[in-house]
Amino acid sequence: MLIVMKPDATSTEIDRVLEVIETLGFRGHTMPGENRTAIGITGNRGSVDPAHFENLAGVADAIRVTKPYKLISKELRPEKSIIKVGNATIGGPELAIIAGPCAVETVDQVFAAAEAVAKSGAKFFRGGAFKPRTSPYAFQGKGEDGLKILADVRDQFGLNIVTEAMDEHGIDLVEKYGDCIQIGARNMQNFSLLKYAGKTRKPVLLKRGLSATLDEFMLAAEYIMAEGNYDVILCERGIRTFADHARNTMDLSIVPALHRYTHLPVIVDPSHGTGHNYMVTPLARAGVAVGADGLIIEIHPCPEEALCDGAQALTPVQYAALVSQVNEIYKTVENYEPALAIL
Ligand code: PEP
Ligand code: MN
Repeated sequence: MLIVMKPDATSTEIDRVLEVIETLGFRGHTMPGENRTAIGITGNRGSVDPAHFENLAGVADAIRVTKPYKLISKELRPEKSIIKVGNATIGGPELAIIAGPCAVETVDQVFAAAEAVAKSGAKFFRGGAFKPRTSPYAFQGKGEDGLKILADVRDQFGLNIVTEAMDEHGIDLVEKYGDCIQIGARNMQNFSLLKYAGKTRKPVLLKRGLSATLDEFMLAAEYIMAEGNYDVILCERGIRTFADHARNTMDLSIVPALHRYTHLPVIVDPSHGTGHNYMVTPLARAGVAVGADGLIIEIHPCPEEALCDGAQALTPVQYAALVSQVNEIYKTVENYEPALAIL
């Protein structure tokens, strides 16, 4: 059930609707929009009788939601969400570029990468302190020490920190040191972790699982939002297919599909999406061309020495070229968007 308030509904009227929702034993999620506020209801097993709401002051409509997801949906919020991450935004008028090394290795390596990212005009820095590695013998990340280095990057360069957490303790630490909690592909359906992230007040960057369908991906985001954290950013990072020329197959068609059903920003990660240095820039350009709101790009001051994902890392020089190209494409795509909206 979705309650659409009248454009001039007062906060007292909104509070009264929330009170009725609570009295029924459900949870109300207020989603303010440009023209009106909508309130999503969760916690109900069957359908909710619209009669509870239709005569309340300020209510324009009570709509039954037929899809399995509610809070991520365009029905609840027709406009695109702009998510605040630190002192910048994702989903706003600027292309959001999140760049940095795969893993935090040393202070020198991280600061060299951060210098390149700051110089490019990007607002977000990435780097894993907790690394989900296929082999237990591979470098697992520097943990809290790594997060402290990332916090120093924020202090020195003013970049906002996006970094992965793999468990609840990791989420607590990323909340303390970072600006955005990344949930990696392998944890996209770790439902208890999603719920835990949903209880925090830091934005969450949710990566698509290696074999997740559109619905599974959207429902994973719904898990976070159902706990009250509405600041979720979706990231396509490639899926497993029979194709073996790339590390993963970047499924760019999911970008317009996600924009069709959800108000959440969508970014793409051509680094993990391809796994190869020479493919990253072409797929970054393509991702922006299909409507991504941002990019994740792995860079390393010396890719051949990287402890993790060196084959897909761009050098600072390659990265600078990518940024100027994608910004040009982004400007062009923006001009097409109003025309696409009427299709
Ligand atoms: C990462 O971004 O460092 C990462 C491990 O990505 P993914 O979860 O997409 O594999
Ligand atoms: Mn990586």
